[in-house]
Amino acid sequence: MASSGASSGSVKEDRLWQRHADMAKLGGTPKGGVNRQALSAEDAAARNLLASWAKARGFTIFTDAIGNLFVQRAGSDPKAAPVMSGSHMDSQPTGGRFDGMYGVLAAFEALEALEDAGVKTKRPVMAVAWTNEEGSRFQPGAMGSAVFSGHNKLDEMLAAKDWKGVVLKEALAETLKAAPATVRPGTPGFTVDSYVEAHIEQGPRLENEKKTIGVVTAIQGSRRYIVTVDGEEAHAGTTPRAARKDAFAAATRIASAMYEATTDADDTLRFTIGRVDVAPGSPNTVPGKATFTIDMRHPRNEALDEHEKKLEQIVTSRAAPCPAHIERVTNVAPTDFDPVVIDLVRAKATELKLTNMDMPSGAGHDAMHIARLCPAGMIFVPCERGISHNEAENATPSDLAAGTRVLVEVLEALANR
Ligand SMILES: [Zn+2]
Repeated sequence: MASSGASSGSVKEDRLWQRHADMAKLGGTPKGGVNRQALSAEDAAARNLLASWAKARGFTIFTDAIGNLFVQRAGSDPKAAPVMSGSHMDSQPTGGRFDGMYGVLAAFEALEALEDAGVKTKRPVMAVAWTNEEGSRFQPGAMGSAVFSGHNKLDEMLAAKDWKGVVLKEALAETLKAAPATVRPGTPGFTVDSYVEAHIEQGPRLENEKKTIGVVTAIQGSRRYIVTVDGEEAHAGTTPRAARKDAFAAATRIASAMYEATTDADDTLRFTIGRVDVAPGSPNTVPGKATFTIDMRHPRNEALDEHEKKLEQIVTSRAAPCPAHIERVTNVAPTDFDPVVIDLVRAKATELKLTNMDMPSGAGHDAMHIARLCPAGMIFVPCERGISHNEAENATPSDLAAGTRVLVEVLEALANR
């Protein structure tokens, strides 16, 4: 612990960047992105490449029944639960080179840096590549970490089908045939001491605020709603204003009041009306019905509760003369990361003289499932203009290395607790 800095000093920016370039060839697209969907031949190739690097360093490699791939550097106490770090290697069909892959390669670089620095840790340190985070081929996403945490059942996930009708169980068997690894018997999941995931931000805040490290405090919760407004169909030419029950006019009053009510001073709340349907959809008939969707996100459940009440009040107060109602269709609770991990990430970033800021994650990540098992946290690094889920996704070698230096120091501290 006294030799703080030895492991981060052994992070090699060139090696980390080259590994990203090597991985980007697997499923590489002409526009410079990747198409490496879960349990595809490209996914298998990425698993083989990671395994070959791990073998060359003498690390232990194994997989589990949902195909999560683990790389372990031994600790001095064989009974101690491991400290884990990683993300995913699968991508969207037109994905970028850094989403997920950065977290896996940063974790692997951390293992190599510890090895190069000759740092011994009490606990084992593990890198993990979770299966099918993107959920573009098989649903739901974040599947490997969800099964590992017990949130989703293994059997149900193995039965999932892609759009061509391929069953996940068969795709997984094919993948493990092409990328063989020792399979840990039994249901996925084992005791983990703590978990830290590095990821590109996938948003523009770090770049805009000129910060290198995002200290991720939470993953925001999300709720979806459907608002239905009932009006009365009438002739567009003959019906005077006082006699109209125009469903769309009422919907626009409701919507504009909602935009106003959800404009918070610190720009944390995310409020989106993404779909509007007007019926009967005829240019010369006053609309008899209007429905629209709401997607609302915030890192704190209380804020979501509070704004939900406001939305309900607006629907009842602004709809007249049309009856209207709002229905909540989904509710995903926010994930709060552990204060010990959050504080450690901030302290190590500051110690390494890296500019940093606390921030919630706007997107979901594997860490949300693992946070239910053990103290967890995340480290964000900037990505160009916040662009992600796009072949143009980009990040700088120095930012990627900076995030990895923070990561290895945090992992080392956790592994010696
Ligand atoms: Zn990701």
